[in-house]
Amino acid sequence: MADYNVIVIGAGPAGYATAIRCAQLGMKTACIDKWSNPAGKPSLGGTCLNVGCIPSKALLDSSHHYEFMQTQAVAHGIQCENLNIDIAAMQARKNKIIKILTQGIAILFKKNKIISFQGTARLSTDKQVEITALDGHKKTLTADNIIIATGSVPVQIPIAPTDDKWIVDSAGALAFESQPKRLGVIGAGAIGLELGSVWNRLGSQVTILEALPDFLATADRKIATAAQREMKKQGLNIHLGANVTSTTIANDEITVTYQDKKAEQKLIVDKLIVAVGRKPNTEGLGAAEIGIEINARGFIQVKEHRETTIPGIYAIGDVIGGPMLAHKGSEEGVMVAEHLAGQLSKMSYETVPYVIYTRPEIAWVGKTEEQLKAAGIEYKVGQFPFMASGRARAYGDTSGMVRIIAEAQTDRLLGIHILGTSASELIAEAVLAIELKSSAEDLARTIHAHPTLSEAIHEAALGVDGRMIHA
Ligand code: FAD
Ligand code: AMP
Repeated sequence: MADYNVIVIGAGPAGYATAIRCAQLGMKTACIDKWSNPAGKPSLGGTCLNVGCIPSKALLDSSHHYEFMQTQAVAHGIQCENLNIDIAAMQARKNKIIKILTQGIAILFKKNKIISFQGTARLSTDKQVEITALDGHKKTLTADNIIIATGSVPVQIPIAPTDDKWIVDSAGALAFESQPKRLGVIGAGAIGLELGSVWNRLGSQVTILEALPDFLATADRKIATAAQREMKKQGLNIHLGANVTSTTIANDEITVTYQDKKAEQKLIVDKLIVAVGRKPNTEGLGAAEIGIEINARGFIQVKEHRETTIPGIYAIGDVIGGPMLAHKGSEEGVMVAEHLAGQLSKMSYETVPYVIYTRPEIAWVGKTEEQLKAAGIEYKVGQFPFMASGRARAYGDTSGMVRIIAEAQTDRLLGIHILGTSASELIAEAVLAIELKSSAEDLARTIHAHPTLSEAIHEAALGVDGRMIHA
């Protein structure tokens, strides 16, 4: 008999959610994770809790308060002299949040009787995992099923090798001890924009270099264009079509050479963040060695129910690709756990929401106009600007809009795109509406509390049929 019904490798949002759901369903479950805090103790929660979603949002919130005090407080009648930012205190707050949340996962594991191992896992057979602890001790566990949730790591580029001092990845950028005067960022994806925003709000001169000609190429064009305009107003210098070709470090500064449409250009900065994407993490896992298929981009290949090419071994989260987002991985994990318990389980990839936590926030679910045009699907659009929202005006940020796209013939919701304050929260209603296969009319007939930002969704839904009240 195997030691466990299920071994989960990785305790990021994909792995820990899976382990908890497996345990809830009565499976004897172990979870192995190698992450440790500076004291060498386990720090569950993976990239998301340790160096991703949570710490970035903690710093975004701190920097937002600082920017608010500098630029908007006076209009509220709030006077503040000698405003200062204490970077060490800001980082300590962020670290405390990480500590509370990572310890919370350990408590959840205990509550659900999940056996947690700290160490690096390697698949030795299709039913056996070898764990190497931090002190080098090895242990072997067996299981009926194994779930790989080893996540992803930042892509490194040889033209800008990270050195933890001058050139850093996203983890390094979340740990700056002082504020760089001039900050460069390579990559204008979600991570580059969020980290660039943090330091821009605190007063750094931030330049973001992006190789692609379009800003946020996968977002709705009107939303992306408006977002770029807003970020420019905030002083974020975003160069599109700027392909970084080399970096040199001399005299305490970094020279970044890039090629744009016109010529070769140079940017001189004090720190450089490399945010050019993330790649699947299968290093040392032994997956390929036991016959698990890995594709050309390094992602583990999966079939229905996220089963790998070896029966009984599943893979979920960033390591299999698709949207590299925490909630995508968690939902996949729950789906696998319920499948193992013999339940009918499915996950709807069409309704995975995307969020970028800039100011204004950007959030969407479903299709963009561009995708629908390319697919030859006829659609109609309702658009409502936050400028016309009473709640947005009271709040003090009227930038952005809600755009709702519905199928022309059936009125079925196909995509909802939001640029604005709290878009990350507002998108939940949009996800639910699309998940329930609602029509724009359903949203238009749903009563929204006044005054709320969510009224903008209501108005945009009315707008699909040309009957907005406030615009
Ligand atoms: P991970 O979170 O990467 O966890 C994998 C775990 O497996 C890690 O703990 C790792 O140490 C462990 N592991 C790997 N190999 C082994 C092994 N051989 N043995 C034992 N353990 C192993 N996503 C969002 O949805 N919203 C956001 O706002 C957001 N913000 C982000 C901000 C930043 C700066 C970054 C970097 C990422 C952000 N992401 C965000 C992405 C999100 O963090 C990832 O999509 C998510 O963490 C993936 O979850 P996962 O469980 O698949 O992998
Ligand atoms: P994401 O994958 O969403 O995190 O975004 C990473 C971004 O970095 C992509 O938009 C890439 O186009 C961009 N990128 C990758 N390599 C370079 C480079 N050498 N110079 C500038 N931008 C780059």
